[in-house]
Amino acid sequence: MLHPYLPMRKLDLLAFPDRVTYLYYDQVEGGGTSGAWLDDTGLAFRCYREDPAKPSIYCGLSIELLTSTDDLSQGIDLSGFDSLLLDIDVKSTQPRLAIILRNFYPNYSQPDDINTVQHQVLTLRRGDLAEPLKIRFSEFNVSEWWLVNRDVPRELTLPSFSNVIVLGVDLRDNLGPGNHEVRVNQVTAIGELVSAERWYLALLIIWGVGLTVYAIYRSVHWRHKAHGKQKALNSLVNKHRELRHEARELKYLSERDRLTGLQNRMGLELAYERLDKESSAPTAVMLLDIDHFKLINDRYGHAEGDRVIFELAQLLKSSVRSSDIVSRWGGEEFLLILPNTELPQAYQLSEKIRRRVHDACWFDNNKSNVTISIGVVGLRCDESLSQAFSRADTCLYRAKYSGRNQTVTEETI
Ligand code: GH3
Ligand code: MG
Ligand code: MG
Repeated sequence: MLHPYLPMRKLDLLAFPDRVTYLYYDQVEGGGTSGAWLDDTGLAFRCYREDPAKPSIYCGLSIELLTSTDDLSQGIDLSGFDSLLLDIDVKSTQPRLAIILRNFYPNYSQPDDINTVQHQVLTLRRGDLAEPLKIRFSEFNVSEWWLVNRDVPRELTLPSFSNVIVLGVDLRDNLGPGNHEVRVNQVTAIGELVSAERWYLALLIIWGVGLTVYAIYRSVHWRHKAHGKQKALNSLVNKHRELRHEARELKYLSERDRLTGLQNRMGLELAYERLDKESSAPTAVMLLDIDHFKLINDRYGHAEGDRVIFELAQLLKSSVRSSDIVSRWGGEEFLLILPNTELPQAYQLSEKIRRRVHDACWFDNNKSNVTISIGVVGLRCDESLSQAFSRADTCLYRAKYSGRNQTVTEETI
């Protein structure tokens, strides 16, 4: 939309330094027309019919547009312009006036023969020049007489303005009686500084470059952002993994006894829940307690007491099957759950354990024995673990009461 408002390219054809203008009229060739300057500007002239008996063919003004003085082949290039702005005062009865542009063709025109220079003309009505007038170069035609008189190549039959050496204003032929005055005030070539095509192309290029830069910027920006998000996501995944690991560790620790590594009460209960209770296979419950453990603590110290508890735990683990559950119930008490075990087999196992404890060498001086008392019961159908425990505890109490270092089962009771 801005294109029409862009400044125009202008060239004042009358403002040439050392401008050369001259009058031409046919009297010099035997015609009846004569011409004279109106003042010393070289741009105002008059033509008059001196001898009506003689033919009147031409009378006009020529303005040279040479870039190099006296070199007829060096005109100006008006091909970049598209129109001429004319301000010409005409006081004449002549109906028409001609604007002439002569273009020098290097391959055809001769510098010493003006007749070889292409003659292009646009005939205007006198009334057209009442106001300043804009004419387009496309309105010019190559003069018929020039084409007829000369044997010109075909490309010269088209108007051209690439090397214009003369601008002419001609009152044409058959001049009427009296004075015919012409004053040339303005002849300015006008053209677009930037053609519409170039203007749109430039806009397209600017848009294209702008969009490309923007697209690159956005893609870099998003890639950067995505990279940051990916990093955050990775760290979250790592954190999640760590937390899961920690949670598993905490769960493991919460189900384990720290001293012995055996399951604690909670671990035992969870392990018991996981047992296949539907099966009709018998399960035995064994509760065992170290005899007079208080004395061991008192005699050898707490650390030694701990060692005894730890080693007893290892002994228990090594004495049972991997499917059996061995737990530290608390203090120096251990609870064992033995799936697929009948009560007599459980009894045999408890006795084996009891003897191993009794026979083991617990202290360096070998003076003190460690003994255990055990209560063993068979888990009844529809009985809870705490109910079975309570019966095993009764058996254990009996074992203690009966002198310790022995196994008591319900059958014994
Ligand atoms: P009983 O034969 O009747 O079982 O006698 P006891 O001395 O073994 O039984 P009591 O319940 O009177 O004492 C148990 C002792 O076990 C008391 C406590 O200080 C000790 N004890 C409990 N847990 C630990 C432990 O983790 N380490 C040590 N060193 N001693 C413990
Ligand atoms: Mg106890
Ligand atoms: Mg005890």
